[in-house]
Amino acid sequence: DTASETKPFQAEVAELLNLMVHSVYSETDIFLRELISNASDALDKLRYESIAKPELMEKGGEPSIRIIPKKAPDTLTIVDNGIGMDRQELIDNLGTIAKSGTKSFISKLAESKDSAGLIGQFGVGFYAAFMVADKITVTSRRAGSDDVWTWTSAGGAGFEIGRASDEDAARVERGTEIVLHLKPDASKYLEDWQIERIVTEYSDNIQFPILLVPEEGEPRQINSASALWQRSKSELSEDDYKQAYKQIAGAFDEPAMTLHYRAEGRQSYAVLLFAPSTKPFDLFEPERKGKIKLYVRRVFITSEAEMLPPYLRFLRGVIDSEDLPLNLSREMLQKNPQLAQIRSAVTGKVIGELESLADKKPEDFAKIWDAFGPVLKEGLYEDFERREKLLSLARFTTTAGEKRSLKQYVEAMKENQTEIYYLVGDSLERLKSNPKLESAAARGIEVLLLTDPVDAFWTSAQLDFGGKPLKSLSQGDVNFDLIPKLDQDQDKDGSDDTKADEATVIAVIKDALGDRVSDVKASQRLTSSASCLVAGGMGPDRELEKMLARANK
Ligand code: ADP
Ligand code: MG
Repeated sequence: DTASETKPFQAEVAELLNLMVHSVYSETDIFLRELISNASDALDKLRYESIAKPELMEKGGEPSIRIIPKKAPDTLTIVDNGIGMDRQELIDNLGTIAKSGTKSFISKLAESKDSAGLIGQFGVGFYAAFMVADKITVTSRRAGSDDVWTWTSAGGAGFEIGRASDEDAARVERGTEIVLHLKPDASKYLEDWQIERIVTEYSDNIQFPILLVPEEGEPRQINSASALWQRSKSELSEDDYKQAYKQIAGAFDEPAMTLHYRAEGRQSYAVLLFAPSTKPFDLFEPERKGKIKLYVRRVFITSEAEMLPPYLRFLRGVIDSEDLPLNLSREMLQKNPQLAQIRSAVTGKVIGELESLADKKPEDFAKIWDAFGPVLKEGLYEDFERREKLLSLARFTTTAGEKRSLKQYVEAMKENQTEIYYLVGDSLERLKSNPKLESAAARGIEVLLLTDPVDAFWTSAQLDFGGKPLKSLSQGDVNFDLIPKLDQDQDKDGSDDTKADEATVIAVIKDALGDRVSDVKASQRLTSSASCLVAGGMGPDRELEKMLARANK
């Protein structure tokens, strides 16, 4: 069975490779970061699996990542002695993309100038190597296995897979060797200083030693290989944090918030979390999954532990526990009470940090709110316990201005005003011309103008803020009786004459509309428009109804 087989790439991969191979992307450097990050993941997996099976570590040496440049022919080789891949894993992992959102990613990439940012976010890391290589050979041995496989591809439609030659098999004792046959214009990646520059910039915090093996001279370690979150705050500069953020999150922006602390007591753990300053493209994927990495005593366990609630899924970073068992099973990830306690404590800390940021650095908080406000609002109906805090964090566009907090709203409330008014709709322009605002405007009452899709949901929960109920102007009765109009002369309703007229008009309208409406009422909502449709007091919000109708189309 030494003959090798040719297999086609999944259609999305072929499309992606086509973009990569013919790339005009300027940020080709990131291919190395992606391959190093895969090597580091593979070493993490080995460390984790060897807890139950120490024999996996027997052959293959101390964990490391080696980078080997060679000229004529120009090849750059990246070697790790991590978990490795068997035949099926090579086929699955390097021939398909299983992630959700692949299609939207590829179409964005095809039109994007910010390819590096997108590639980093999506983590199609391996394929990024085709930006610099016209042929790639991967030789891999799964830890503990006697079989070694070679995968080869020149991009295009497919790849070849077969048994490794005896010579290759002898060299790869454990893990994966990736040989990049560099394109002519990528030969700069053979320069030691270029390799060092990229590693320092993107991969300095990788926890395993990265060794540069020059054509001449001795191998040397070119990263600092520390678990940055374990170090004390006082040793770390803002630049250290920025760098760590970029590396941990695969991001290209700057963090808008950094939270680094160590919890001691009933449980000990280190936390290093970042809020990005820009929106990732997959923020609204239906899975709503977070990416926080869970470590136990510096061993990476999983990024699937959902350490924060879905409405904080935009945060990136690491939680490293001292007390949890290393062999956490999938089941335990959900049921473990220690984990639940860490989740809740860290969530509280994050909210606290957002509060103090809103207080002390409003511009930084505004960045977070602009990018992730609609996500944070999901917490308003999901996190009952922290609803009040989240409501105070929320910023709104209102008839009085932008980025208004409810605290500001309440301070600006009119005499005798006891409720917080809002309107939900799909655009600001349409809301602003909504006749339902007229009567509020005549009284100088501020109204929240809610245009995020999520607004229809959290407002349906009948919330109040500091004892003031939130009330939709498009639902049920709105009573402005006790709040005087700004211009008193206009205030003629309520006189006996108008009351009598009202009754006649209403009777005529009811007659004309019949069963199509449940009631017709004189209202104080309007001043210059003649009529508007509202939902009954107990019924669903009228704007919510419209939105749901659109969503169900
Ligand atoms: P991601 O790292 O986000 O999963 P990549 O395209 O970078 O996406 O890698 C795809 C998959 O290929 C990885 O998830 C991993 O299973 C496998 N893989 C890539 N490089 C290695 C490696 N050096 N050792 C073991 N597995 C690897
Ligand atoms: Mg990767």
